Amino acid sequence: MSKKVLVTGGTGYIGSHTIIDLIENGFTPISVDNGVNSMASILDQVSSITGITVEHYNIDLCDFAKTEQIFKEHEITGVIHFAALKAVGESVEQPLRYFKNNIDSLLTVLELSQKYQVKAFIFSSSCTVYGDVLSSPVTEETPMQEAASPYGRTKQIGEQIISDTLAHQNKLKAVLLRYFNPAGAHTSGLLGEAPSTPAANLVPVITETAIGKRESMSIFGTDYDTRDGSCIRDYIHVMDLAHAHTLALQHILSGKQDQPVDIYNLGIGQGATVLEVIKAFEETTQIKLNYQIAPRRPGDIMAIFANYDKAKEKLGWNPKYKIQDIMRTAWVWEQKRTKL
Ligand code: UDP
Repeated sequence: MSKKVLVTGGTGYIGSHTIIDLIENGFTPISVDNGVNSMASILDQVSSITGITVEHYNIDLCDFAKTEQIFKEHEITGVIHFAALKAVGESVEQPLRYFKNNIDSLLTVLELSQKYQVKAFIFSSSCTVYGDVLSSPVTEETPMQEAASPYGRTKQIGEQIISDTLAHQNKLKAVLLRYFNPAGAHTSGLLGEAPSTPAANLVPVITETAIGKRESMSIFGTDYDTRDGSCIRDYIHVMDLAHAHTLALQHILSGKQDQPVDIYNLGIGQGATVLEVIKAFEETTQIKLNYQIAPRRPGDIMAIFANYDKAKEKLGWNPKYKIQDIMRTAWVWEQKRTKL
């Protein structure tokens, strides 16, 4: 029988793409989301792509009793825990909301995973846990600096909670996946990022500008010590990212992970500057973007990109999409989403 995987944040951006990847690899995903930054109707798109109707619970994971009901109704083999608030700026304004939501939901899902003998727990972490790094590429061993925001701290604390909880047992194993900059959309053109609040990340800001939802966009700083003065990030296509979750799950379930918790960086190992990203968009779509140079954005770090050798060697992960693919798919999705 197909193994059931609980995907928290299942209607979110990375969650929905991962649900598709899980289905394509023979798992039965169960989705749970409180809909605070996504819409359950995104699962219709998932169904158009896969032909499968995914069971979905509209539940807040801070509600222990309701969440426990899902574990009672299904024999869950693995949990992929995406659900979290994730806006860096908002977390500075509302730190308590971020700590309460992101930590409480993690505690609930982790406790229930232990109680109901789940075998694999995959946690959405972020390169933000490295803080303001001195040099790149960063490996999983690169020491963490102080987190730049309450959001980043919830990820650092989340990693520690999982490590401490699972350190002295051998039933539930966990993987912490540190994402660099997820971007792009499903190659079917039917699915992509659909945030309820205005986008703040570079790629959706670019596509929203191109389609006319914004008159122009800002480049936050061209006076950094980089090759063209703008910040460097490692943009990773959401389908490559999604597949890493399936691989991490399979790795644990096939008994290949010895230690209770393992950590992987997920980026493509190449940094792109903001100006290079804009150029890639303009060249791929033949659309000229209206942008201006603006002051630095507070809290931004100058440059960070990944060394992902560990995910390649241990999980067999080989990201196949480049920045041009990210731009092309994001643009196709922006046009589709505007019509939905
Ligand atoms: N950025 C920008 N204009 C925007 C949004 C982002 O110049 O409207 C820059 C931002 O300063 C950073 C990079 O794009 O250098 C990536 O920002 P994003 O918010 O997407 O990711 P993060 O900062 O979390 O890595």
